[in-house]
Amino acid sequence: MEVKEVVIVFENKPVTLKYKNDTITLSWKYLKKPIILKRTKDDCLECVSHSLTYNGYPKITFNSTTRRLNRFMYCLFNKIEYNSTKIKGYVLCHICDNRLCVNPEHLIKGTHEFNMQDMCDKERQARGVRLPQSKLNPVDVEYIRSSEMDNNYLADVFCVSSDTIANVRKGKTWKHV
Ligand SMILES: [Zn+2]
Repeated sequence: MEVKEVVIVFENKPVTLKYKNDTITLSWKYLKKPIILKRTKDDCLECVSHSLTYNGYPKITFNSTTRRLNRFMYCLFNKIEYNSTKIKGYVLCHICDNRLCVNPEHLIKGTHEFNMQDMCDKERQARGVRLPQSKLNPVDVEYIRSSEMDNNYLADVFCVSSDTIANVRKGKTWKHV
């Protein structure tokens, strides 16, 4: 049995990764509980410790905001700050088609065109269920208002409901920005 421990600095705070057989346990100061990932025979890393978003992706909460774990993992392993323009406004697509998977190697940062097509197949199948409103920040609001992408797409990128995006755009919320 091989046990390995790796520390990565992310957002200026150490993230500890413990590898033991097919399980990775990830601990970070900002997380209430460690993230536990199981490696499948297809080399997917499935989250077994956290609940899912309304459309079936593992989610975590940090800085009082609900985030998709796949996004977190992508940023962590590619050393991208979470709010960096390198990632903001992009949707990550799975090459393995497994929503539970957060293996950074199975995620690609898609172009707008690619994702619009991809989302037609996957994301928009989720209907009728809404998450409570998650927090946006003024930078997000500016981005949303200047974007040409549709509400569903932006809802996915910012982990909020499409109603939240619509309200931001109509100026029903964030009037002062
Ligand atoms: Zn995978």
